[in-house]
Amino acid sequence: MKKNFLIQTGGTIAMSAKGEGVELDPEAWSDLLIKQIPELEELAEITTYPLFFEDSSDLNAEHWVNLANCIDVNYEKYDGFVILHGTDTMAYTASALSFSLQNLAKPVIFTGSQVPLSSIRSDARRNLINSIEMATTELQEVGICFNDHVYRGNRATKLSIGDFDAFGSPNLDPIADIGLNIELNVSPKKLIPPFDNKAAFSNEIFVLTVHPSLSMNVLDCLDLSKLKAIIVRTFGSGNFPMKGEFNLLPFFEKCRHRGVIVAIISQADYDAVNLTKYSAGRAAIQAGAISAGDMTLEAALTKLMFLLAHSDSKEHIETQFQIPMAGELSIEK
Ligand code: ASP
Repeated sequence: MKKNFLIQTGGTIAMSAKGEGVELDPEAWSDLLIKQIPELEELAEITTYPLFFEDSSDLNAEHWVNLANCIDVNYEKYDGFVILHGTDTMAYTASALSFSLQNLAKPVIFTGSQVPLSSIRSDARRNLINSIEMATTELQEVGICFNDHVYRGNRATKLSIGDFDAFGSPNLDPIADIGLNIELNVSPKKLIPPFDNKAAFSNEIFVLTVHPSLSMNVLDCLDLSKLKAIIVRTFGSGNFPMKGEFNLLPFFEKCRHRGVIVAIISQADYDAVNLTKYSAGRAAIQAGAISAGDMTLEAALTKLMFLLAHSDSKEHIETQFQIPMAGELSIEK
């Protein structure tokens, strides 16, 4: 029987109903888990490990490093890993781990639930069973398993607050389909060098959402000496205001002057940024900006945080950012 390491980090799946809402309930979960879903033990030999109990909104790069280290320490002992995690920032943590856990040859599956395990209409049961089973397969990457879909971790994003089908992967088909059987849609990697945990992240980054009437006076208050990179969430294929007092180009120039990387992403979830199509994109290239292609915000942010922690060379980081590292980016045909 395959050996599974089940890591608890919190989220709704670790909560209990409390009045009108829900609250983290560390005592209840571990006991409840096997009592409520005894079938889990038919799927794999499961070792549970409560790493931390947090609403996922409180997680940060330090938690990602702890989680990566926890997998690293246990890597040889288990065939697969399941991480119970809040849905709100699950795609960020999954993306961060996809860049950290290099040469991964085993499944690392994130899951959670929209409703606590203890509630009668919980989706936790189905997500857990699917995830434990996914972690017995030959998958060799970080995935998010939710509501019968398995997405590449660094391609997924939370799309719904209320639906059981909370996640989507706008620019990549699911990496596995769960029906009567589990069908993997990715082939095994050929030559895998030894597993290597490289988890380290820099916080010197900021995400700027462009919107109509965005005030340059506000941007002037940004202390660029504290930043190494800015991700700019632009409109459509990479557009932003270029006229009058709202012209964003001088800000890009200022960033370049200060050695701050400017990476352009879109507010639209589907398809890739194209900086050569409109004059704004072309001007952004002239001002030194780079494209995030079809990366999700979660992937672009965690990839840059990862790259910034591993290199001091702006040029090197910019080059690496535009090359796929863990299947997070489509290469132009
Ligand atoms: N607030 C919760 C969390 O992300 C939501 C969830 O788990 O669905 O921790």
